[in-house]
Amino acid sequence: MSAGERRTQRTRRASDARFDRGTIARWIGACADEIGANRDYLTQLDAATGDADHGVNMDRGFTAAVTVLGAASELPPGDLLAEVGSTIVLRVGGAAGPLYGTAFREMGAALGDRDRFGLAELTDALAAGLDGIVKLGAAVEGDKTMVDAWVPAVDALRSDGKRDLAGTLRHARIAAEAGATRTIPMQARKGRASYLGPRSVGHQDPGATSTALLFAALERAVEAEER
Ligand code: ADP
Ligand code: MG
Repeated sequence: MSAGERRTQRTRRASDARFDRGTIARWIGACADEIGANRDYLTQLDAATGDADHGVNMDRGFTAAVTVLGAASELPPGDLLAEVGSTIVLRVGGAAGPLYGTAFREMGAALGDRDRFGLAELTDALAAGLDGIVKLGAAVEGDKTMVDAWVPAVDALRSDGKRDLAGTLRHARIAAEAGATRTIPMQARKGRASYLGPRSVGHQDPGATSTALLFAALERAVEAEER
């Protein structure tokens, strides 16, 4: 490799590591906005197959997470995510609280103590978050849960690694939304909705829907950064 090539590679690596704690703060802020704007919709979805608390639970949790971020703004990005995870476990409750809380904690652990990170590390962190959800909740694709939105979104990030950043995040958001829509004809096999048996068919899963909102928030947060 020539000195020029080496320099190009180093430059690319440096500019690839474009994310920092500000990215996480913007993402969590955008999550709170998306969840807040869709609170009643999520609760309506949960009224059909559960106990009508998902929107309220998520709104309470992400509003609290924004406050925690304000107080912890000096922490590295991984620690910020871990703080968010702990807040979500405490404040969301229900089934989704421990599941999303674990996801954010695992994302934080995956980022470790680095100050800056790129799309590859972000993808690994989101994949670690999904692994945490699966370890805790034991759902597989097709069970009509948040996993049905997470899996296609993480797959989109993995397969798009070399596309432009905005396009990759848009693809992940669209994949998560499509995953949420695909839960409509499914019969729930996990969580409260599974108690309904065949009557859970015909309704979109609230957790898969909130997961799509988190990926929409990620797209928005990074878009704002690029401007
Ligand atoms: P609860 O069902 O306790 O009221 P929420 O209403 O906040 O909790 O969240 C319900 C969502 O949690 C479901 O829509 C589903 O996506 C998700 N969920 C439930 N159980 C599991 C599980 N075992 N694995 C993954 N996600 C699950
Ligand atoms: Mg519920």
